[in-house]
Amino acid sequence: MASTAKYQCANPNCGAWFEARTADRARGWARSCSKRCASIVREKAIPDMFGQKKKGPFAKWVDRKLSQAEADEEMHEEAMQDCTSGWDEGGWRD
Ligand SMILES: [Zn+2]
Repeated sequence: MASTAKYQCANPNCGAWFEARTADRARGWARSCSKRCASIVREKAIPDMFGQKKKGPFAKWVDRKLSQAEADEEMHEEAMQDCTSGWDEGGWRD
């Protein structure tokens, strides 16, 4: 029998309390009350994740790319490609 507990939705615009399995939470799942909230949280988490993991000029560069990309989905794709290419081409310039 799975143990469950009450958690608050990770989507700040929702904040609903919901019941989730503690085993799922331990794996980093069940952060939000619904799939809709999960997708919202995941979209918001992308720039946060970069910002926390990569400090310095690279993070600023990613933030700038991502904020530009918000206006234009094609730009977003391009930005994400730029993120993964060029890792081995030397230092980043700001
Ligand atoms: Zn929610």
